Amino acid sequence: GMGGSIIDYAVVCEEIARSGCWGLASYFNSVIMYGADMILHCGNEEQKQYYLPKLAKGELLFAYGITEPDSGSDAAAAKTMAVEQGDHFVLNGTKIFITLADKADYTITLARTDKDAPKHKGLSLFIVGTKSSGYTARPLKKMGGFTDTTCEVVYDNVIVPKTHVLGGPEAINFGWPLLLSTLETEHLEVAANSLGYAQAAFDDALAYAKERYAFGQPIGKFQAISHMLAEMAVDLNLARLSVYQLAWLRDAGKPCFKEACMSKLAATECWTNMAHRAMQIFGGYSLMYEYDIQRYLRDSYILLIGGGTRQIQKNMIAKALGL
Ligand SMILES: Cc1cc2nc3c(=O)[nH]c(=O)nc-3n(C[C@H](O)[C@H](O)[C@H](O)COP(=O)(O)OP(=O)(O)OC[C@H]3O[C@@H](n4cnc5c(N)ncnc54)[C@H](O)[C@@H]3O)c2cc1C
Repeated sequence: GMGGSIIDYAVVCEEIARSGCWGLASYFNSVIMYGADMILHCGNEEQKQYYLPKLAKGELLFAYGITEPDSGSDAAAAKTMAVEQGDHFVLNGTKIFITLADKADYTITLARTDKDAPKHKGLSLFIVGTKSSGYTARPLKKMGGFTDTTCEVVYDNVIVPKTHVLGGPEAINFGWPLLLSTLETEHLEVAANSLGYAQAAFDDALAYAKERYAFGQPIGKFQAISHMLAEMAVDLNLARLSVYQLAWLRDAGKPCFKEACMSKLAATECWTNMAHRAMQIFGGYSLMYEYDIQRYLRDSYILLIGGGTRQIQKNMIAKALGL
């Protein structure tokens, strides 16, 4: 709503994550990435006019329903079916691990609209109202990210008007290319958030190394600890450079798919590795729930997987290298 750039978006993601509040970051990104960015880049004019002002006012929450029980990395193998009937489609299928699908007003849903077409060509994206009859979202228990929900979503004869095909009728069967066109920004969001959490883990570890005494001196004076913190600072700096390089490329409208995969990989691994080392610096207190360190480690596994695993990022980077 304020005309911010992608660099602005990265700064906000990083700073919210740095506050350590998973839930706030998750809700914010569901509005901005899965709502505003999807509608802005994939929606038709009518959809932009209807949804964007409401999203800018914070009146709508979106979820992003791509993954299915039998297809995560291979998302184009989705089996959820959308069958055309007059002025609407009827959706049947199941999605899994969908963030905030029980809280959102709409779930952007990937479904097969042509079962005979090659798998990447017969897919469409639907803006599915979560109050629709036949839509059920069940939160699952998970080891981290306690302040948002991760849901199984069942579509049982859910009626979706044709006006809710993302991009309009001409986008029927073009859901996959639309999805790919938003991946760079999605990877940026994941990377910038990971960077913020990594910074938070580093800040806590550095402060603790200065105040915790052992053998009569702050533990940060032991070279084993000070070198670990020096390496953490280097890793953080490299992850930050990759995030802002990607944001800059995206703002400049330059191709950046390879850089998006690199940044997603670098920043998510940076966060997990940062949390692992912060755990060592905190010693026994690292395992205690009254300190945030254990939470940073648990939460970091979510972004290592969500948005595409490290193996998938490496596959994409290797492909971009011509391998
Ligand atoms: C907390 C959480 C929130 C999530 N939120 C959402 C959401 O909001 N919306 C959504 O749509 N999805 C969401 N996801 C799903 C997430 O994107 C998938 O879990 C992820 O893409 C991996 O899919 P999978 O779990 O089916 O693993 P699989 O695809 O079954 O992969 C299993 C393992 O095999 C490896 N593998 C698979 N294919 C290859 C290959 N070609 N080469 C090398 N290795 C391979 C993977 O890297 C992984 O190590 C979320 C997941 C989690 C955990």
